Amino acid sequence: MVSCKKCGNKVPASALKLDLDLKMVVCQDCIKNKGIHKEIETEIFHKVDDLAKAEETKQKTAHKCTSCGYNFKIDLETKKPKNCPYCNARVMAF
Ligand SMILES: [Zn+2]
Ligand SMILES: [Zn+2]
Repeated sequence: MVSCKKCGNKVPASALKLDLDLKMVVCQDCIKNKGIHKEIETEIFHKVDDLAKAEETKQKTAHKCTSCGYNFKIDLETKKPKNCPYCNARVMAF
């Protein structure tokens, strides 16, 4: 038995693997844990990426209130706001 250079676990020498990132031999548990961390990182990265893309593709159109003349933006996807944020007059046309 030899001990893992990273976590100190006593494992058979055949179970140790050279980790190219850490530049040391570690046990299979350490390699497995590293893989999980990498997966989580990329998952979060992708989620942020998707959110940024969704924000970009959101279509908004400028609208001028027919009642008070206040300029604001309407989201074409959700058709919001339905009322003028200034005078609360109903938005009639897009
Ligand atoms: Zn280890
Ligand atoms: Zn208005």
